[in-house]
Amino acid sequence: MRRVDSLRRIYGERFDVGGSGVSLERRLPPEIETLFPDYSLYRHRLYALGFLTRGCNKRCAFCIVPAKEGPLKRPAQSFDAFVPPRQRNVMLLDDNLLSYPGVEDLLLEMICRRYAVNFNQTLDVTYLNESNYGLLRRIDYRNARFDKPMIYFSLNYPKMIEHFRARRHMLEGFGQDCVTVVCIYGFDTSLSQDYERFYWLRRLWLIPFFQEYWPIPGVPARLPENYFDMDLNRMIRLTFRSNGYNWEKYLRWLNLRYFRAFGRFYRPLVEIIHRYNNKERLEWFKRHPELMTDTLYRDLRSDSPARTRSWSTLLEKGRLAPGTPPGFKKIVGAFSTLQTAATPADS
Ligand code: SF4
Repeated sequence: MRRVDSLRRIYGERFDVGGSGVSLERRLPPEIETLFPDYSLYRHRLYALGFLTRGCNKRCAFCIVPAKEGPLKRPAQSFDAFVPPRQRNVMLLDDNLLSYPGVEDLLLEMICRRYAVNFNQTLDVTYLNESNYGLLRRIDYRNARFDKPMIYFSLNYPKMIEHFRARRHMLEGFGQDCVTVVCIYGFDTSLSQDYERFYWLRRLWLIPFFQEYWPIPGVPARLPENYFDMDLNRMIRLTFRSNGYNWEKYLRWLNLRYFRAFGRFYRPLVEIIHRYNNKERLEWFKRHPELMTDTLYRDLRSDSPARTRSWSTLLEKGRLAPGTPPGFKKIVGAFSTLQTAATPADS
């Protein structure tokens, strides 16, 4: 929003802006919305971009789609409305394509047109059945770069694991290393529920993509008060065959949650995070042993003298010491939250 404000200051009335980051209500006039896209505005011609359906009949609390798009509908949109004649790559932004009752016809059209399709907003596994599976298999499903086969699903609720397990044979049928599953974290799930989801993705040989919840208007990030409800060591020792950096990001998030909940970093977790990348950060942690603990789930937030000393050092070093590792701002942020938090509950 800072950039939007700056642009407003520069261009005043001549500047207009929209999109979900700015407003969920603003709409383009229909005659603009239905214009054929001007792809010369993009810096590439790798793919065409558009919707065949919009909206979703579900009401996931973390999602802007119900408020922004409303129930599932089929706009007067066809491939011809947004795909240039010689373009073969198509990125679809549909919110819940498989839930559309006429989805088989749309999938058949993709096959007939010999498109390579990126299902960018993921598919809903609860609507995957033998009939649409047979058609999806015949589509050239692709990753966002269109350089390898990939199909996307999402697993946001623990109860959805059963749907993945029940459709195991179909997921295998898409090909080894060809199914990515997006998993949101930081919203309504405990550590054990996160573990359950991640464990099953691993067992089913699916590629996980861990995504932190990005708060939408009126819905802050929320975690159960007793988020750490299982042995943390089991979680941090999970390994995945791909997307290692993405997994590391989740572990870093976990690291800060731990610090905020217990007043220290858990040393085994810090060591796992930095075993391959950013080893200089590990050195930094080693120089601050007062910030770490080897004892799992011991609440050290009330350890006042040590806390004051160590956090003062932390802040001072953070501002002054050369070589303070990147990401330090987050640590300081966690510190401030802990300092000002009225209750120990996480946000
Ligand atoms: S997350 Fe997916 S299924 Fe849930 S409301 Fe949003 S679009 Fe629908």
